[in-house]
This record gives sequence, C-alpha cells and structure tokens, in this order.
Amino acid sequence: MTANPFLREACYIDGQWVGADSGGTIAVTNPATGEQLGTVPDCGADETRRAIEAAQATFPAWRAKTAKERALILRRWYELMMEHQEDLAQLLTLEQGKSLTESRGEIAYGASFIEWFAEEGKRLYGDVIPGHMVDKRILVLKQPIGVTAAVTPWNFPNAMITRKAGPALAAGCPMVIKPAAQTPYSALALAVLAEEAGIPKGVLSVVTGSAKDIGGEMTANPLVRKLSFTGSTEIGRLLMRQSAETIKKLSLELGGNAPFIVFDDADIDAAVQGAMASKYRNSGQTCVCSNRLYVQAGVYDDFIEKLAAAAKALKVGNGIEDGTEQGPLIDEKAVEKVEEHVADALAKGGTLIAGGHRHALGGTFFEPTVIAGVTQDMLVASEETFGPLAPVIRFETEDEAIAMANDTEFGLAAYFYSTDLSRVWRVAEAIESGMVCVNSGILSTEIAPFGGVKQSGLGREGSKYGIDEYVEMKYVSLTI
Ligand code: ADP
Repeated sequence: MTANPFLREACYIDGQWVGADSGGTIAVTNPATGEQLGTVPDCGADETRRAIEAAQATFPAWRAKTAKERALILRRWYELMMEHQEDLAQLLTLEQGKSLTESRGEIAYGASFIEWFAEEGKRLYGDVIPGHMVDKRILVLKQPIGVTAAVTPWNFPNAMITRKAGPALAAGCPMVIKPAAQTPYSALALAVLAEEAGIPKGVLSVVTGSAKDIGGEMTANPLVRKLSFTGSTEIGRLLMRQSAETIKKLSLELGGNAPFIVFDDADIDAAVQGAMASKYRNSGQTCVCSNRLYVQAGVYDDFIEKLAAAAKALKVGNGIEDGTEQGPLIDEKAVEKVEEHVADALAKGGTLIAGGHRHALGGTFFEPTVIAGVTQDMLVASEETFGPLAPVIRFETEDEAIAMANDTEFGLAAYFYSTDLSRVWRVAEAIESGMVCVNSGILSTEIAPFGGVKQSGLGREGSKYGIDEYVEMKYVSLTI
C-alpha cells in the first residue's frame, strides 16, 4: 500500500532532488495507523535561501515568456495531475487521513486552480486612462511581483499549494513552497509533476523541514516580494510581523469560526444535508467548516433529531478503505482540542445528542458529535474546534441570529438556510464574512474569490481576482 510512485523523500530545490545540508530527516506518519510512511529532509534557512536565490535567477526568463507559453506548461501540469489523480489521492489519504473520495475530490479541486489560472494569466489586462492634460496619456501595466513564497497547511495538502502556485506562476512569478510537516508528500508529488510538465528549474521549489527556520528565511529575505500563507491566525500574525521588516505583500488565509444558521422557513432536510457536508467534511478540519450552528426555535427540535441521526450514521474508519466517510484527526493535539470543547460545553449546560468521545477505533479517531443547548459563552462559540463537533444554539429572531453570528473576531465563511428571498438578501448583506453560502453546505470552487475579513485574513484566492495578489500595478505617465 505504501509503495506509491509519488512518494519522494527529497526536497526539490532549483530543479534538483536534494536532502538537507545536515543530512537530517523528519518522519512522516499515517494518522490512521500511526505507521511511518517515510521521511523528508529537515531543511532550514540555508536551503531556503538557495531556493529563493534560484527563483530570483530564473525570474527574468520566466516573466519574459508570453502568458500563453506559461499557460501551455501549466496546462500540462494540470493534465498530469488529473492523469495521476488516483495515485495522488492515495498518497494524500495516507499522509492526511481523509477518505479517498475526499482526496480524489481534492486532487481535482487542486488541479482546477492550475487550469483556471493558466487561462487567467492571459487576461492580466492593464488600463489606458484619458490624460488629465491635453498632452498626457496614462497607462497602467500589471507586472509580476517577483519571487514569491508559500507556507501551506496539512488539511488540504494539494489544493492549498495549487491555489497559490497557479496564480503566481501564471503571472510570471517563481515560487518557493514550504508544506506542512505532516503532509509533505503531496507537495513533493506536485513538484515531480511540475518537473515533468516542463516548469523550468528554479521556478518552483519545495522545501521541507523546520517551519521556524524556513518561514524565518522566507520572511526576512528581501528577494521574496510576496508571501502567501494558509494556516492559523496565530502563525499568520507572526508571519505578518516578520514580514514587516521587508514590507512584503501578503495573502493570509487564516482561521474561521463559521456560523451556520437555519431559519424557520428553511428546507430542513436540505439544511441537515448541508450541515453534514460543511461540518464533518475532512473530519471537521477545514477553515470553512461550520463551527456554530444557530437554529431557530420553530425547527430546532426537528433539526437536531435529523442531524443527530445523520451524524450517527457516518462511517468512521481508515480513509483508504472503501466506504469510509470520516477519517482520523490529524494528531493527538487535534483530538484534545475537540475533547476540551466537548467538556466545556457539557460543563456549562450543553446536552450530548450524538458521539462525544474518542472513537472505538482508537488512535486519533473521534465520534461525529452533536451537542444541543449550546450558548455563546461556551468555548465552541468563540474558538474554531477543527474537529467533528456540531454545537447547536437556539435562537428566536433574525436580528439575534445575525448579532450572534457576527460576535467573533473571525469572518471567513458563513452559511444559512432560508426560502424567504428578502431575508436571504438581508442576512447575506448583514453577515460579516468574506464568503456567504446560502442554502448549501459547500462553497469552494476555483472560479469564486475565497478569503476572509476581520482576523480571518487578507486577500483572495481563486477567481479572476486571485491573480492580482501576484502582480504590481505600474503607472506610466506618457507625454506626447
Ligand atoms: P495548523 O494549526 O493548521 O497546523 P499552523 O498555522 O500551525 O496551522 O500551520 C500552518 C503552516 O504554517 C504549516 O506549514 C506550519 O508548518 C507553518 N508554520 C508553523 N509555525 C511557523 C513559523 N513559526 N514560521 C513559519 N511557518 C510556520
């Protein structure tokens, strides 16, 4: 099972497959079994600096290509990902734990960003602005920003990379990537295919190892003009602080605390289905997972009964096995966080309706959990659980639901169910989040702008807007 053709135990720096200077390695384990899958190099600042310098050296040639030339190479990269979707999905499940169905979906989703931005690169239009004096013409050019760096998380080991590398490379920028320590193989597999697709050496490097040292070099090095990070708000803050020294352009996709609101006029069966998808996907480990479920009094009992039945029916197991719907959590720390939230909610008066405990399978498996009678003073209302816990809060009025939904420093995704058109507009406009999903539990697609407001981050990924994160506008004043 572990003999996956894409499992590479080396970093990809300046077109070379290399180990760490120190010879050190880090173990990578399968969260479903605890078994060691292999190792990756334990690199630090020196290897990262070499990757950055190689990227800088390759920048003039990469930016000089036409957008179409870059698009053809990126298109090939996309096709290779789809040709090898099954092997890539297997590798992703082995290191991350999610079900194979979800992994296959992630590979297709990840690949879609490369396809999309290969095309968007051709549309980096500037402007011609009528002059403010008779002899003036004002031009606006969009130019690649330069060397870029990406720090990515373990919950989407493929897609969080392509969502950054796609627009960067399409715009003409090289990129150095540091994947999460837990899931480096999916990143290195992308590098294998990048090489095969003909992405020139140095344009894309993947460095594994010490987060502190690699992140330190990425943020301190003045050659890096842009850093894109997806991960926790805490580390996002740190990277922003570190980037202040060199005034880097930043994209930060940070934590969420998504509300999921069900109004009395909602289609309850559809709402339950949406809640299941948005809550338990990836075992609750996505930044857009619903974190707090607000249900109006008139449908509260009905909703809870149906949600609990659906949660209990979820098949928990090793993601690699057929039929598994919910895999393990990424590590012990993640399980402890869910346990802490469950204990806090129950201590403050919540009622356990489904699950609530470590799963009988052991390890880091956790039962799909539903808690009713939750209130705003419980930890689950203010902190992201990042696990399979659905806390349900009862509300009476629309204003109350909006006030509770907005009572958070986060603002990434929000979901709500209603069939009243006026309410749909009102609530969609009133909710403080970068994304609002109405009458569905899934919103991610490469064609829409993904990102947060408040402390959920800066910038947008995907869509026609995502490529702007990797370009600078240049104003040219022309006197004729
Ligand atoms: P999570 O809680 O989801 O693991 P983190 O924010 O801790 O989120 O991690 C997201 C990414 O940030 C990972 O690639 C991780 O290795 C990296 N990271 C963690 N600490 C640092 C740091 N001090 N500097 C740079 N990157 C870091």
